[in-house]
Amino acid sequence: MDSYRRRVGVFGGTFDPPHVAHVHVAAAAIHQLALDQLLVIPAGQPWQKVGSRTISPPSTRLRMAVAAFEMVDKVLVSDLEITREGDTYTVDTLGALGEAGTELFLLLGSDAAAGLDTWDRSDQIAELATIVVFPRRGFETAAPPNGFAWTGLELPGLEVSSSDLRRRVAHGEPISGLVPPLVEAIIRSEGLFLPS
Ligand code: ATP
Repeated sequence: MDSYRRRVGVFGGTFDPPHVAHVHVAAAAIHQLALDQLLVIPAGQPWQKVGSRTISPPSTRLRMAVAAFEMVDKVLVSDLEITREGDTYTVDTLGALGEAGTELFLLLGSDAAAGLDTWDRSDQIAELATIVVFPRRGFETAAPPNGFAWTGLELPGLEVSSSDLRRRVAHGEPISGLVPPLVEAIIRSEGLFLPS
């Protein structure tokens, strides 16, 4: 009997905008975890970030993600969370993806992993997927709370963040090399992140 389970990674984020560190995380995860596929899933309405700033429209973030990750083989950018109504929860996304014959790997930056137990139905998350933690500058030693099965990714420290990129655009500073060229083209043509 063939007992092979498809290895599918899940990489969620706001991706406002996606940047070169996100792209490298994707490539490194596929390589180090021997994934058959990596789903990049832009969040529809990130409830942990709502209220703190204006978030670019989901359709624009989806377009930027498609543009950013097209260079990485085995990545599929999914609109699963964007087309779902209301708040989006990782546990629902994993539940929707976890069909028989699939082994799920949930990618999380070490900053996010440390607070995993505050996520909605986090005990179910631990049952549905193996947590994969990749180091984020300033949070090198952070790990998921006890009870979560997890593994780590080895990555170079890349000090790039979406918030810093938004700040650079707002201040008229260059962002070339920090985002894929097609992403920069969308930012410019849509006038994203400019002061209102
Ligand atoms: P923001 O600055 O707005 O918080 P971000 O750069 O963290 O955004 P997200 O879309 O929130 O981008 O990130 C999605 C995932 O990518 C998160 O798990 C985050 O930890 C990870 N990530 C973002 N930037 C880096 C980086 N430079 N190195 C490693 N992981 C990163």
